Amino acid sequence: MTPQPVTAVLLTAQAARVITTELRTADHTIETGGILLGHHIRDTVTVRHAGTPGPAAVRTPTYFLRDLAHAQALADEAFTTDASVWIGEWHTHPTGPPAPSARDTATYRRLLGDAELGFHSIVALILAYRGGRWTESAWTCHGQCVTPVELTNSLVDKPL
Ligand SMILES: [Zn+2]
Repeated sequence: MTPQPVTAVLLTAQAARVITTELRTADHTIETGGILLGHHIRDTVTVRHAGTPGPAAVRTPTYFLRDLAHAQALADEAFTTDASVWIGEWHTHPTGPPAPSARDTATYRRLLGDAELGFHSIVALILAYRGGRWTESAWTCHGQCVTPVELTNSLVDKPL
């Protein structure tokens, strides 16, 4: 059965912990991030695993690209653990707004357009640093559009 477009994203404590740890320890002058893995059932994506950037990630003040080999190893491990699949990515905007940039959107469209990857939709979690704290937002890219989605189990409710 084809999954429906995503309207809600649920972040498990396990995935949230990886992201909050990375936010606490990362260099905040450049972007960081990783892949998201989990399950897409009906209109909800459950994120069960979040990746760290990996040693070969591209990290600049305005751009992040995950380390593909690192991401692949995590994806294999997650699939073995609980049949989680690659469903999207998370990254930070140390200075930009908590919304996908034009370059981010282009990246999501390229992933969706790659038939080998088999994406139905992409979930993106963006964390922006503003006013001394992290602000999060969740997005979905399906077809040509990027739309905001509800995020359950907020990261910013917890101390980072
Ligand atoms: Zn971005």
